[in-house]
Amino acid sequence: MLARVIEQRPTSTANTATAGEVRECMIRETTERLRMHHDCQHTTWKYQRGSGHCESCSVDFPNYLYRCRGCEILSCNRCR
Ligand SMILES: [Zn+2]
Ligand SMILES: [Zn+2]
Repeated sequence: MLARVIEQRPTSTANTATAGEVRECMIRETTERLRMHHDCQHTTWKYQRGSGHCESCSVDFPNYLYRCRGCEILSCNRCR
């Protein structure tokens, strides 16, 4: 039974490798994005008119918010 499973493996190697590579690439991209966000010091903020949700204090603000130019999170005047 075990020998048969091992024997069957080479036939599906190409498929498995491709799927694995794609997944690895996606994981790397996500990790990179997370690291970028993590490293962001939120030094430059862009004033944004309109209603929005502050991602730091989870409060909805009806008039304006600030968006970080580095990682694009939304933050209110008090949290930025
Ligand atoms: Zn930022
Ligand atoms: Zn806030």
